[in-house]
Amino acid sequence: MNDFPIEQIRKDFPILDQLVYGKPLAYLDNGATTQKPLRMIEAVNRLHREQNASVHRSVSFLSDKITQAYEEARTTVQKFIGASKSLQIIFTSGTTGSINLVAFSFGEGILEPGDEIIISTMEHHSNIVPWQMVCERHGARLRIIPITDEGDLDLDAYQNLFSDRTRMVAVTHVSNVLGTINPVKEIVQIAHSHRVPILLDGAQGVQHEPVNVVDLDCDFYVFSGHKIYGPTGIGILYGKEEWLERLPPYQGGGDMIDRVTFEKTTYNGLPFKFEAGTTNFIGAIGLAESLNYLTGIGLDKIIRYEHELRDYATQKLSGIKQLRMYGTSAEKAAIFSFVLEGIHPFDTGMIIDKFGVAVRTGTHCTMPLMQRFGIEGTVRASLCLYNTTDEIDRLHDALNSVIDLMA
Ligand code: PMP
Repeated sequence: MNDFPIEQIRKDFPILDQLVYGKPLAYLDNGATTQKPLRMIEAVNRLHREQNASVHRSVSFLSDKITQAYEEARTTVQKFIGASKSLQIIFTSGTTGSINLVAFSFGEGILEPGDEIIISTMEHHSNIVPWQMVCERHGARLRIIPITDEGDLDLDAYQNLFSDRTRMVAVTHVSNVLGTINPVKEIVQIAHSHRVPILLDGAQGVQHEPVNVVDLDCDFYVFSGHKIYGPTGIGILYGKEEWLERLPPYQGGGDMIDRVTFEKTTYNGLPFKFEAGTTNFIGAIGLAESLNYLTGIGLDKIIRYEHELRDYATQKLSGIKQLRMYGTSAEKAAIFSFVLEGIHPFDTGMIIDKFGVAVRTGTHCTMPLMQRFGIEGTVRASLCLYNTTDEIDRLHDALNSVIDLMA
């Protein structure tokens, strides 16, 4: 893609310019966490040096200024995902924090013994275990959408899982292992045709696909700051206003209250009802800075570039005969999970690291998905806006070296 300013973009991410074992770093582990643009790093530094004060709690000049920046950050997130009101944006600690919030509150407010929650075979543990925990607590049970060998959700089977006890669907937007981009709009429509709300796990979706929550019509959408070039320890829960109003608070503490007496506490309105305690306000403002950085480049351009990287990598890796790819959906992001025949993924990862190529190995927090394919784990290369075809060539060559070495 000739008009994509890749050289400038790489300069925006200072960490990329380093040698690992004497080789230039090829960071291909973006599904785990992404690197940070200088603009965000400097904003967070500046906030700590010049503007730090508690949000929503003081009348001081600094507190007022940072509170304003925090609420502007909320509006930036709102616009980025197309939400209609900023009060629908709750700052959490990450995707995991957001899903635990919804699962807990949903359990307390809605679930009854015998109720059912639908999730899928390709979920991250973060979108399995919180639901399992609340099912155990409330006598409900999980129903699981199966997947095809290519790594697509079986939508016919999904339709058949609904019963008059189904209370919630929770499905990932993009699989962190298979790369499958799920047809989330259709999945939402099916849930709604059964009058069931749906949560979309956008941890791997929001940075690789255009997201408009109003158009998707999902009831909840969640994601992590650190996977979209923002700081660690900040995440987003978007919810439809009627659901956020209806669900009880998750945690108690400062800011989430209206009035406290020893006899009874009444709660604050949205979004503060779900933001107990001092939040990661600097992380929230840092996240907004990263989102503004992406908007500045143009999300459509980024997505087009990433699709080109995906096509290049698909073609290049298909040339390695001993490589078995998991996740071959026609609709996939630039995420590649594979095993080299007869070679443990951990060994592959360790060896290619010596060539400067950073990937992830293991189960990727998706043990049930590994069980579905009957494997112990995979090697995963996950690409994003600052990766290059040259880095894909280096991955390819390093994998061939592994094959030669282990032969
Ligand atoms: N869901 C998916 C699809 C993910 O990829 C991840 C992170 N690997 C999570 C949830 C959890 O995100 P976090 O650890 O940032 O809370």
